[in-house]
Amino acid sequence: MNIFNIIKDLLAPKKCYSCKKEGHFLCKKCFEEIGYFESICPVCKEKTRDFEVHFYCKKETISLDKVIILTHYQNKIIKKLIKDAKFYGKKDILEDIALYLWEKLFDHIEENTQDIILIPTPMYFWKKLKRWYNQSEILVKNMSKICQIDYNNSLIKKVRNTKAQSHLSKIQRMENLQKAFSIDEKLIQNLKNKTFIIVDDVVSTGSTLHEISTLLKKYGVKKIYWLCIASD
Ligand SMILES: [Zn+2]
Ligand SMILES: [Zn+2]
Repeated sequence: MNIFNIIKDLLAPKKCYSCKKEGHFLCKKCFEEIGYFESICPVCKEKTRDFEVHFYCKKETISLDKVIILTHYQNKIIKKLIKDAKFYGKKDILEDIALYLWEKLFDHIEENTQDIILIPTPMYFWKKLKRWYNQSEILVKNMSKICQIDYNNSLIKKVRNTKAQSHLSKIQRMENLQKAFSIDEKLIQNLKNKTFIIVDDVVSTGSTLHEISTLLKKYGVKKIYWLCIASD
């Protein structure tokens, strides 16, 4: 894709990637045809209520409470939407997705809006400069606009640039991410009683998710939920 095609695309009216109808990048009807991700436990991959980590699976991952996933990454339309939103400047796609994410979140949590805080998955500053934006931050800001939930994008920082994860094994990923994140120690004191909703685009092996959650639990955060657009 060259720069002219990218600009042409950015100026074109919103059209559903699936049925081509104008108005949204993914209309509700087509989204529902693609279907929601089933409520499974992130540890054993068996059915669970509201995406909770089973009580007996907690031994392996004491830092995670829920991993709520919206839809399927194997779906071609979803894959293309996420790629265009991340790499080709189509930030508006994230407005549509934020709405679906917000609906999914409120189907699966019991907390009141004032008791939760949205946190984007942090990106290393240099990567953000190169890409112009962090897609998770845009998602969180859009969600906060829709539902007036607080968000904070300075609490967790990625302080080390890490290798791309896709070709690494699970153990290599964990080593790659060690000490990659830092927490604002003052800020967290006022927030640790809230339920944290950490928002990300795609969850694969979950190593980022474990690293950040473990760090937050060390600072006394009680409940940590992840909310992701898609997973395999
Ligand atoms: Zn459609
Ligand atoms: Zn389980």
